[in-house]
Amino acid sequence: MICSVCNSPSNSFYIKTGPLMVDGDKSKEYCFLKCDDCETVFLENPLDESALGDFYPDYYLPYRGEKAWGKYAKIVQRQDDALNIKRVDLVSKFLSPKKHPQKIKILDVGCGKPDFLYHFDQRVDSDCFGVDFKQAHWGDAKYSKLNLTEGDWTQHQPTEQYDVITAWHYLEHDYHPQKTVEKCLELLKPGGLVIIEVPMYQGLLARIQKNHWQGWHTPRHINLFSFKSWSTLFSTSHWTILDHHKYGTLDPFILWWLGRAEKKNYLWNANFEGHFLNLALLKGLTFPLFALEKVLPLGIQTVVVQKK
Ligand SMILES: [Zn+2]
Repeated sequence: MICSVCNSPSNSFYIKTGPLMVDGDKSKEYCFLKCDDCETVFLENPLDESALGDFYPDYYLPYRGEKAWGKYAKIVQRQDDALNIKRVDLVSKFLSPKKHPQKIKILDVGCGKPDFLYHFDQRVDSDCFGVDFKQAHWGDAKYSKLNLTEGDWTQHQPTEQYDVITAWHYLEHDYHPQKTVEKCLELLKPGGLVIIEVPMYQGLLARIQKNHWQGWHTPRHINLFSFKSWSTLFSTSHWTILDHHKYGTLDPFILWWLGRAEKKNYLWNANFEGHFLNLALLKGLTFPLFALEKVLPLGIQTVVVQKK
């Protein structure tokens, strides 16, 4: 098995995990290997992409969003809005009227329920595009201004180039990250940006939670990127890495709490209303630890890369 980031055939065993965030048979084991060269950790036995549907049932928590939380849905919705606004702010930091005198063209890859694009459109003079292999609430009136496409995004044939491509927790699902980077190069204007956020296995949470860490998200996550992966994927001949943060926009507490839920065998198709107070209590108790996320690498990373 070769590394899909650097093509090295040299690797060693890293960890075994069971299927995560899904109900039913938990006996199947998946093995992750670590590339000896670029330190990317990858699934040795990934499922055929056509078999992945079983791991994205209708009850899959990210699909249900705030609706999974019953009477607390409004609070969860507010948290989700805050997350998406944080993402808009991060992207906006790299935009300026001088460099971008016209409308910003932005493509969000793996846009899911397209709330990030919705908030971007509300705050930035932009044309917003999203692509995902499956629609999620795309018919809702609030998303009517967005240009959304269903299908394999590497087959996407747009007639124009983008200023920004974002991928929030998408690239770890990607079977062919090198092809994705090539596609970004093709789709971006010169000076255009790629902003990627993914889980980080080299953080404290993966060490503490081991095979329950939700960053594995087995068998949906194919590659867990190392600090070295980025300079390998984004070669200096075409790209400049502007920023690499060992934290992200997603609250690492949520990732930790979902891992804890896995360990405690929560039923994933249940109504999560009954878990809300436990979540709120633990959020308060663990606040001092998670407040350190910018100095103590926990479990999320973000990279900002510019096309030359
Ligand atoms: Zn490698």
